[in-house]
Parts: sequence; C-alpha cells; structure tokens
Amino acid sequence: MAKDMNFKQELVGCFGFPVAENPTQAMIEPAFEALGLDWRYLTLEVKPENLEKAVNGARSFGFKGFNCTIPHKVEVIQYLDGLGSSAELMGAVNCIVNRDGKLIGENTDGKGFVESLKKKSDPTGKSCVIFGAGGAARAISVELALAGCSKITIINRSIERAKELIDILEGGVAQACSQSLSTQMIEWNDNYNIPIGTDYVINATSIGLYPDINAKININISSLTPEMIVADVIPNPPKTRLIRDAREQGCTTIDGLEMLVGQGVIGIEYWTGKNPNPEIMRDSLEKIFSA
Ligand code: NDP
Repeated sequence: MAKDMNFKQELVGCFGFPVAENPTQAMIEPAFEALGLDWRYLTLEVKPENLEKAVNGARSFGFKGFNCTIPHKVEVIQYLDGLGSSAELMGAVNCIVNRDGKLIGENTDGKGFVESLKKKSDPTGKSCVIFGAGGAARAISVELALAGCSKITIINRSIERAKELIDILEGGVAQACSQSLSTQMIEWNDNYNIPIGTDYVINATSIGLYPDINAKININISSLTPEMIVADVIPNPPKTRLIRDAREQGCTTIDGLEMLVGQGVIGIEYWTGKNPNPEIMRDSLEKIFSA
C-alpha cells in the first residue's frame, strides 16, 4: 500500500558571527527528534553586512523562525515585521518567530532565566542584585521586573552602561509592572558585599566563560548566605567558580545551562506549538560540556 511521504524538513536556526562555538543545535535537534518532528536547526554564520540578506533568505526558505546571537540582537530588529512586548522594552531580540508569514522578534533569554528561577522561587516582591549591564543583564532584569521583583540593583564596571539599563527599567518597564519597582546602580570596582535581605544574586557578565574559567568575580563570597539563590549565566563551563563558591556557602544555585535550556524550550514552543522535554536538552548539553 502506498504511504504518504514527505521529504521536506521544516527549518529553524541560529544567525551569528562568530557562531561555530554556539551549542544550541545540539540541544534543539534532539528535542525535535523526541517530539517526532523532522525539523532542522541550522547554525549559520552570518556576517553583519549580510544580515538583511540572511533575514530575507529565511523568509524565502519559509523558516519557521530563527535565533540571533552576537552581534545581531539589536541590528536584526530593523528587518523584522514586529516585536513581542518585552523585546520591545529591551530593544533586543534573540528569537524570531514566523507567525502567519510575519517575522516577529521575541527575547527568550530573560524568559528562560525566569522560568528556571520559578521552579525554585516565586519572584513576587523579591530583591535582586545583578552583576553586568549588557544584553544578558538587560534581558534578565526586564523579565524579573515583569515577573514581580520589587527591587533591582545593577552593578557594572561601566557606569554609563548601567545607567542605560536603569533608564529602561525606570521607564517603560516600571510602567508595565503591576508592582512598584525600586532600582539602584553601583559602579563595580571593589569586592562587593551582597546586602542582607537580597533574595537573588545573578552574574550576568561574561566573567568565568571558557577559557578564563578561574576568573574571580569581585564579590565577597562570605556575604552569600544560604537563603539566597545565586545564578550564573555562563553555560561553558556550567560549574563556574561562583556556582561552586555559592554551593559551599549553602545557597541554592541556577547554572547557565538552565537558562540556555529554558530559552530553548520557549523557542521550540514558539516555533512548533509543542512542549519539548527539557531533560533531553540538558542531557545533550551536559554531554558536550563534560566531554
Ligand atoms: P555583553 O558584551 O553585552 O555584556 C558583557 C557584560 O559583562 C558587561 O556588563 C561587561 O561590563 C561585563 N564584563 C565583561 N568582562 C568583565 C570584567 N572582566 N569585569 C567586570 N565586568 C565585565 O554580553 P552579554 O550580556 O550578551 O553576555 C554576557 C554573558 O552571558 C556571555 O558570557 C554569554 O555567554 C552569557 N549568556 C548566556 C545565556 C544563556 O542562555 N546561558 C544567554 C545569553 C548570554 P562593561 O559594561 O563594563 O564592559
């Protein structure tokens, strides 16, 4: 008996430059397979001067969506048809979704982080200390505020960059929040003492990323106390020095793989409408990073 046959795969992917070290394909394709989807996630090197052509290429090939990584997260916006609400507040996009032929920019970095946090704690009314003011810090702080955190302190080496983020938080984000939001910024030059009463401590800088795996983050480790949740965005290696130190202090921890898996889960849900298995995704990444 003749069977229905379909040799056409659906396409998604990641545009970046450089992009060869981006491990996302290794967690997304096993999740597709487990869902029974014959989809492909292509890791595509796109130079900045080719970004517009690449976006048009994705339209022509009928991509269901794609991720954008460094250096495209802001530049890609001008080539899209619209933005999700938190991406609009952040002014940065890392996940594009084809919705009825329109390419809509979303930001899943912070959403993925908040989803992994919510498995351990309810963000409502919480006080957060965030190190960094770049793309990751921006995505995380906006989503934490939208999830109900009431106090956000941004600590960054460059105070100008911290000020840009504080302006975003005190502007559209505060207006979009249902709770009152208090913010503070601190120039980071000394060993920082985490204030008593802090609920979440988050490294959103690139300190600790391979190959500088033993780089010391300027925090007074003895000021970390067991009731705090300590998170690190660094996925490679996942057991950063900060995560190890925080565990020794008795803190609950969230590593960079949880955030990576969290944003991957949301991306797959946006693209396919199906719920992937996060354990399969994490296992695939752990195999890579422990090899
Ligand atoms: P950006 O370049 O936008 O920002 C980097 C931040 O790190 C800035 O705040 C910068 O401070 C700070 N920083 C870098 N080096 C130092 C240092 N030696 N001392 C003090 N501060 C420093 O990068 P992103 O925000 O896009 O990415 C940051 C990290 O987050 C990357 O390592 C990336 O791998 C990770 N990431 C992880 C994701 C995940 O899913 N796990 C998702 C997205 C990102 P300054 O402003 O002063 O230069």
